[in-house]
Amino acid sequence: MHRRSEQGWIEVIAGPMFSGKSEELIRRVTRYGIARIPVQTFKPQIDTRYATGEVVSHSNLSVEATPVVDSRELLHAVEDRTIVIGIDEGQFFDEGLVEVAIDLAAAGKQLIIAGLDLDYLGRPFEPIPSLMLRAEYVTKALAVCHRCGGPGLFTQRVVQSDELVVLGAQDAYEARCRRCYNPDEARQQELGFSRSVDQ
Ligand code: ADP
Ligand code: MG
Ligand code: ZN
Repeated sequence: MHRRSEQGWIEVIAGPMFSGKSEELIRRVTRYGIARIPVQTFKPQIDTRYATGEVVSHSNLSVEATPVVDSRELLHAVEDRTIVIGIDEGQFFDEGLVEVAIDLAAAGKQLIIAGLDLDYLGRPFEPIPSLMLRAEYVTKALAVCHRCGGPGLFTQRVVQSDELVVLGAQDAYEARCRRCYNPDEARQQELGFSRSVDQ
């Protein structure tokens, strides 16, 4: 039988909040786990929204995950026997994640990385766009626009904050379609108020 470990690759699941990225990541790593393929799942330490030690979707699926502070720590935490590596909230990692992913894939690991491709102002949210360019497989996930039910491509911030990252999330953001998304709404809030809501 062909050993899976001989061939590595990178798969990215990108999209706005509520598009089911975590759900899809959990589904995939759980499926490999059932087949007894050695899996490790990681998440950035910054994401403290839910239980530490697991990745949790908005629909409450979960899988065990190791919190790491950066891409270096992730690289060192990968065990030799591991074949599949799941990474959630990839946008909260440093840009070093791109090289780390390339190196791990070259070493025969199969990576599944979920993350936001755009920030709340509609700008590319690195390192996800760079990872998408280096990936064999890219799944673009869409949410349902909270306003009109259309294809939700963007993440609209609906609370005042000028921080790039506002955790605590469900009430701070909505998925919006191209027509209903308004980055100026977020920018005006940014001008009018400084640093308010967090966590
Ligand atoms: P992500 O990781 O992309 O933020 P999750 O996998 O955590 O997404 O959550 C997806 C779940 O969020 C869906 O199963 C659904 O139950 C819920 N959800 C809440 N609001 C929306 C929405 N507007 N569009 C799609 N799913 C939504
Ligand atoms: Mg998620
Ligand atoms: Zn809409």
